[in-house]
Formats: sequence, structure tokens, C-alpha cells
Amino acid sequence: MMPDGKRLLIVGAGITGSSLAFELCQTFGKAIISKQVVVWDKSRGPGGRMSTSRSPTNPECRADLGAQYISSSQETMRKYNRFYDALTKDHLLTEMVAPVEGNNPYQKPGIVDMIAPQGMSSMVKFFLQQSGVKVETEREVKQIDAQFHRECLTLLTTSGHTEDFHTVILTIPVPQILKLKGTFADDSAKQTLAERSIQYSSKYSLVYFFDELTDVGLNFGFRFVDDDDIIRYISVDNIKRGKPDQPAAVVFHSTWQFGRDKVDTDKEEVEKLMMAKVVQMFPDLPQPSARKIHRWRYSQVRSHNDRDSKEKSDVNGCFVLRKEKPIVICAGDGFTESSLDGCLQSATKTVQYFKPALEEMFSPENIQ
Ligand SMILES: Cc1cc2nc3c(=O)[nH]c(=O)nc-3n(C[C@H](O)[C@H](O)[C@H](O)COP(=O)(O)OP(=O)(O)OC[C@H]3O[C@@H](n4cnc5c(N)ncnc54)[C@H](O)[C@@H]3O)c2cc1C
Repeated sequence: MMPDGKRLLIVGAGITGSSLAFELCQTFGKAIISKQVVVWDKSRGPGGRMSTSRSPTNPECRADLGAQYISSSQETMRKYNRFYDALTKDHLLTEMVAPVEGNNPYQKPGIVDMIAPQGMSSMVKFFLQQSGVKVETEREVKQIDAQFHRECLTLLTTSGHTEDFHTVILTIPVPQILKLKGTFADDSAKQTLAERSIQYSSKYSLVYFFDELTDVGLNFGFRFVDDDDIIRYISVDNIKRGKPDQPAAVVFHSTWQFGRDKVDTDKEEVEKLMMAKVVQMFPDLPQPSARKIHRWRYSQVRSHNDRDSKEKSDVNGCFVLRKEKPIVICAGDGFTESSLDGCLQSATKTVQYFKPALEEMFSPENIQ
């Protein structure tokens, strides 16, 4: 046994990785999970596609870069009530009251729109903190090798760090899973996953930060734009989050067609194109104190080729890459849908399906 007993690594500190840690904590208890589970992320902080960015010159001025708001039904919120109750109790998720403009394609009867007043990443950080897991950032996994005789996996990061774990759950976008090197996956499972052709849209986010209390002349929470080839969505982030008295930040999301066509274009060039469009749309918008452009190469899941969905490796919410010990599982929106509910479904199904193996792993004789 390794000196620290049997340990589980979650790769990815996005909403799937963090809600998975929270679900493990609810199932096995914080005392065990805080010792036996570690989360790695390649970025400098948790959040992933639910990240919140701060102005470099005023930390009070912030904006959601990726996911913008949460839509769910009463029925689904009841199904995942342990997550929703925890978030709403701490006011990390509240009903959206800000005005919305344009045709919201996600608006349906019975669907409630909610916002994260402190920013989307506050939900990710909350789940990680509640579960007590150790989070290590700037750990980008590039290779995973199965050590069959020791029933463990050796991970190698881009900075040359290596470490052994008994089970690994990958919560990174599927194309990034398929790029990982090493002997960690059953050949047939990896091939099935590749054949699924799980595809993601690409998008850009451009943020204008206004550090001082500037009147930007826009009074909506968010607006969908139907008739533009570059900009699809605009949010006045502080108004959207119910904080009109905080410094403003305006977020522009590109159309997926623009994202697709410019996915490999230099970011500065893309920024110039988007900025020119912003001037055209809002000639009176004041000069921002700071700007940020972000490329989402893997933004939201667009299509699944689910002809293999009856394969044994598919458990409706996660996918088994190595069934025998050392186990490797992948989870995330690639196996459900790109939303909070999709990620919660993936996290809960993963724990449910692997409960027997996890019970054995976290049994007293396997914990030191
Ligand atoms: C522009 C945009 C708008 C969106 N709008 C909404 C919305 O309004 N509402 C909504 O519900 N959803 C929305 N979504 C979708 C939602 O954000 C995602 O479905 C969800 O955040 C996915 O979470 P995840 O944890 O599965 O993946 P991610 O958030 O992508 O987390 C994966 C993590 O893994 C890390 N990682 C990747 N590779 C490695 C590696 N090799 N080693 C270590 N770490 C690695 C990444 O840094 C990342 O933090 C939006 C997404 C985008 C991009």
C-alpha cells in the first residue's frame, strides 16, 4: 500500500469535479474524503468553465467568463436538493431578477433562472471547501500509466511532477481526455469513446471592466443578440448578479460560428474584431479600465454520436476507461449536457455506479 493509504484523484476543479467531491463527502464523510481524495487542475484556480474573472486593478469589479446563469426546474432542483439547498442556504445561488432582453432560447415554461451573486466560481469553491479535499492547482496531467502489479496509476504532469493514485476520475473535456498519453485506458473503451465523436462548440468571451462606478448606459442583466455574426450574448455582469451598486463589467460572448471560424486565430486579432463590433453596437460605451479576452476551445457539448450508448462502458453520466483495478473513469458534461444539472447528474451517477469499489477503497483496512 502507498504510505497515505488508497487515494483517489479527481482531475479537473470545475463544477463536475467539485460536485463529485461534495457527493463523495456526503456519501463517505468528510473525515475520509478530506484525507483520501485530491483534486488537480491545470489552471491557477478552481472554476473551469464556471470561472469568474476579476479586474486586474480592482478586485471588486468581476465578471463570469463562461457559464452565465443557471436554469432548472422545480423537479430537477428537488432531485438534486442536497446541492441546491446547500447553495441557496448560503445565498450562493439566488433567483434572477434583472431584466433580460432579446429572445432567450433557453426560456421554457416551468424553468427558473438563477444567478450566483458572488460569481459562478463561488459555487465550485464552495463544494470543494465543504468536502475538505486537497486542491492542487497548476497541475496539468499529460500522461497516466497503469501499474498493474501495484494496482495503481502513475500520473505525470507537464511540469514533470509524478505521483501515484489508486483510482482516477477525469472531469476534463472529452477531446482533452483522448489526447492524454499512457496505458491508463482499456483499448476498446478508448476506441468507443473516440467513436462517440463528442463535439463541443468554441466561443470567445470579451470582458470590459469598469473599475470606478461608471454609468455604462446599459440597464439589462443580459441580452441575446439574434442578428449579428460576431456577438451572440451580452451581459452587464454586476446587474445580472443583482449588484447594480458594484463596479460594472460588460461581457460579450461570440457566436459559435465565429468561435468555430476563429478557433486557431491569434487572440489579439480576435479581440480587435470583437472590439470593433462593440463600438459599432454601442458607440457611447465609455472606455473600460481593463479588458480580457478568453478562448473557449471546448465551450458546450454540441453533439453525441450515441449509437454505442448501450455499451457496458456507458453508465449514463460517466464512462469507464478502465474497469479493472486500477480504475479510471471519466465524467462531466460530455456524458450528459452542458449545464449545472448535467454536471450534477454526472457527479451523482459516478458515485452511485462506483459505490461498491469506492466502499472497498475507503474501508478501514485501506486507510492509514
Ligand atoms: C461561454 C460559455 C457559456 C456557458 N453558459 C452556461 C450557462 O449559462 N449555464 C450553464 O449551466 N452552463 C453554461 N455553460 C456550460 C458549463 O459552463 C459547463 O457545462 C460546465 O461548467 C462544465 O463543467 P466541468 O466541470 O464538466 O468541466 P470544466 O469546467 O471544463 O472543468 C474541467 C477542468 O479541468 C481542467 N483541466 C483540463 N485539462 C486538464 C489537464 N490535462 N490536467 C489538469 N486539469 C485539466 C480545466 O482547467 C478545468 O478547470 C457555458 C459554458 C461556456 C464555455
